[in-house]
Amino acid sequence: MTEIKKLINEVETTLAPYFKEIETIAYENQEKVLDAFHAVKATESDLQGTTGYGYDDLGRDHLEEIYARTFKAEDAIVRPQIISGTHAITIALQSTLKYGDELLYITGDPYDTLLEVIGINGNGIESLQEHGVSYNKVDLNKGTIDVDRVLRSINDKTKMIAIQRSKGYDQRPSIGLNEIEAAIEKIKTHYPNIIIFVDNCYGEFVERREPIECGADLIAGSLIKNPGGGLAKIGGYIAGKASLIERCGYRLTAPGIGKEAGASLNSLQEMYQGFFLAPHVVSQSLKGALFTSLLLEKMNMRTNPKYDAPRTDLIQTVEFDTKEQMIQFCQSIQHASPINAHFSPEPAYMPGYEDDVIMAAGTFVQGSSIELSADGPIRPPYEAYVQGGLTYEHVKLAVSRAAERLQKEQLI
Ligand SMILES: *Cc1c(COP(=O)(O)O)cnc(C)c1O
Repeated sequence: MTEIKKLINEVETTLAPYFKEIETIAYENQEKVLDAFHAVKATESDLQGTTGYGYDDLGRDHLEEIYARTFKAEDAIVRPQIISGTHAITIALQSTLKYGDELLYITGDPYDTLLEVIGINGNGIESLQEHGVSYNKVDLNKGTIDVDRVLRSINDKTKMIAIQRSKGYDQRPSIGLNEIEAAIEKIKTHYPNIIIFVDNCYGEFVERREPIECGADLIAGSLIKNPGGGLAKIGGYIAGKASLIERCGYRLTAPGIGKEAGASLNSLQEMYQGFFLAPHVVSQSLKGALFTSLLLEKMNMRTNPKYDAPRTDLIQTVEFDTKEQMIQFCQSIQHASPINAHFSPEPAYMPGYEDDVIMAAGTFVQGSSIELSADGPIRPPYEAYVQGGLTYEHVKLAVSRAAERLQKEQLI
């Protein structure tokens, strides 16, 4: 047996009990989803979709009820007309925040694409700021929500508090649901009327619960991440209090029309099946993340989170010593993709980034990050973000080949 094969065996032996726990959570989440399908009596005709205005689209309405039940929300909106996670979050923010209101982010800076939505970056056009909504943030303190400072930062104008569960492409830790629950409880004790929003991107089905069960009023996410199960080709969702979801509907379509219209075309079959598969697909990605973390750690790279740390999202960071290592690793991931494997990604300029960025992804759905991908800016500390994987076997193959290649090229 080669050195690396031995190492892989060791890694899988160490990970066995952690994999067992991931399977237990997937089982519980699968049951929640199945029960939701049964509660709405999902029917073959629900998968068909409508055209034109999309009135009386029962398949769409049932799917939204399945999301609402699974996430323990009063209502949900799940649409192919929501083009991404950023769009879903934008609808949630714009429909709640009005002239004179303040938005307070309590997990530090929001995800990159939201900076322009809020008006922190960019030309300001149609930003919250242009509509008279002010913004403030409270940074994490040693990686945790600084509740005391949050309470001191709340003022008469504070209408909504936003929590970003996943670190996204930031260097902070992700925030688990127990911590989110404790923070919401303290905030609501003093300010019961403040609306709590959670950016749930990358978080769905990683834990046993979802943020609404922890006190959040509104959550949003992308269907080309976890809840699309790798099958949804487009879409976003928002779930939460019925009165807030009604506003989201009015914002997405038009006042008076709201959720009543919006044809689902051919999107429903893959959205239903994707949501049904999502707990399992998320478990596969998570197992892949643990494998990546431990194998590369054993090869002297620095990985975050560690294999044995509790998780609340799918993002795995790997820190390389040199830029050559990072580029080689990302290229190897591309070369092990099902699609576009014969191309080699090179670091290149990306709008919104100071440094060149390398992006490896050979996915079935463009930009899908529930499928295996690796990317990051080329600057010290040379951190690549590795996420997704529709099957554990694929992540294992890709990461093992990447590790082997680094060794062969004597980069480690
Ligand atoms: C991906 C992501 C978003 C934005 O989703 P897109 O679909 O890329 O627009 C927002 N927040 C977090 C934490 C994310 O990971």
